[in-house]
Order: sequence, then structure tokens, then C-alpha cells
Amino acid sequence: MVKSLLVSWWNRLPWVGGKLRVVHIVTAADEIPDRLPPKGAVLVGSMERPTWVAFDCPCADRHRVMLNLDSRRRPTWKMQSSNPLSLHPSIDEFRDLKRCHYFIRGGKVQWVPDKRRLAVL
Ligand SMILES: [Zn+2]
Repeated sequence: MVKSLLVSWWNRLPWVGGKLRVVHIVTAADEIPDRLPPKGAVLVGSMERPTWVAFDCPCADRHRVMLNLDSRRRPTWKMQSSNPLSLHPSIDEFRDLKRCHYFIRGGKVQWVPDKRRLAVL
């Protein structure tokens, strides 16, 4: 009992413990909910023919990330698994002066060090 309470508390913390996974499938991008559960990604289309995957960026800003999974459009990401979520290639987003560059593999976020910023320092 105590253990399960602890696990549920731990899993509610954003990006700590637990693994990123697809929690909803919707038919159109405008049906993606504004608020997603921690570690929850939404798939647009179907498991067989996904067109987009959306989730909140694991950075401090938690901005929405939308990745195209439809090979007819570019750039295209491949969803290697949905639960836990694995995407290829890495997500590399520039926003103002910030850069969010990470891999999602096996539901875990692996940040890529920003070499340009290190070079400036
Ligand atoms: Zn970000």
C-alpha cells in the first residue's frame, strides 16, 4: 500500500520516474488536449497510420512539441514504439535563443549537450 502510494506520487512528478508513452489517440491534430498528463503523449491518426505525435517538451518551459510521423511530409520522425515512447531521429528545436535537443528512447529523455554554447563559454 505504502509502496503503491509512493509510486503513484513519483509517477506524477513530471519527467521523474515513469516513462513517456502514448496515452491518447485522436483523429485530428485539433483534438489534441491543451493539457497532457506528465509523460503522456498524444498520437494523431491511428497506431497503424500515425500522422503526428504531440507532447510537452521536457525542458523547463514545457512547451508543446508536435512531430510529423507521416513519411509524405518532411521532416519526418519514426515512432519505433509507443509504450514506452521511442522516436527517431532526435528532437532538435530552436526557440528564440534556446535550443531543445534530445532523444526519446524507451520512454526516457536523453539530452544532447549543446556544443555551440560550450564553445562560447
Ligand atoms: Zn523545450
